[in-house]
Amino acid sequence: MNQSEGILKKHKLRQTEIRINVINHLLEKGNAISQPELERIFSNQVDRVTLYRTLNSLEEKGVVHKIIDRDGLSRFALCAENCNEHRHNDEHLHFQCNQCSRLFCLSFPTSPKFELPKGFTIDRLRILADGVCRECG
Ligand SMILES: [Zn+2]
Ligand SMILES: [Zn+2]
Repeated sequence: MNQSEGILKKHKLRQTEIRINVINHLLEKGNAISQPELERIFSNQVDRVTLYRTLNSLEEKGVVHKIIDRDGLSRFALCAENCNEHRHNDEHLHFQCNQCSRLFCLSFPTSPKFELPKGFTIDRLRILADGVCRECG
């Protein structure tokens, strides 16, 4: 069993070729890939609706998470180990490079805490930063 198949098994998802291919691609890239780019890459394998459903099911089960980038595009990245169908536990910084436009998941050294007005609770924190990445800097 390869790593992608292991991930599907752990999240109790049926092994389908497109799911395995999408996970493989994200593993290989190591950063967040936009939906239009995934559509382009997998256009010869599945139609857009199937890809959309694939990404949805992976997101629901905590395999990937969706990020809306600075251009309003949906991007997908693999989740941390501890995400599951009940909850995503991967709070981290999303960092988009102004030069190459790649988007990275970066973990916080210490998770930021916010003092919110009484009665507000945070379920999921989304922080998007932009700047220059390691390879462009
Ligand atoms: Zn860059
Ligand atoms: Zn992320």
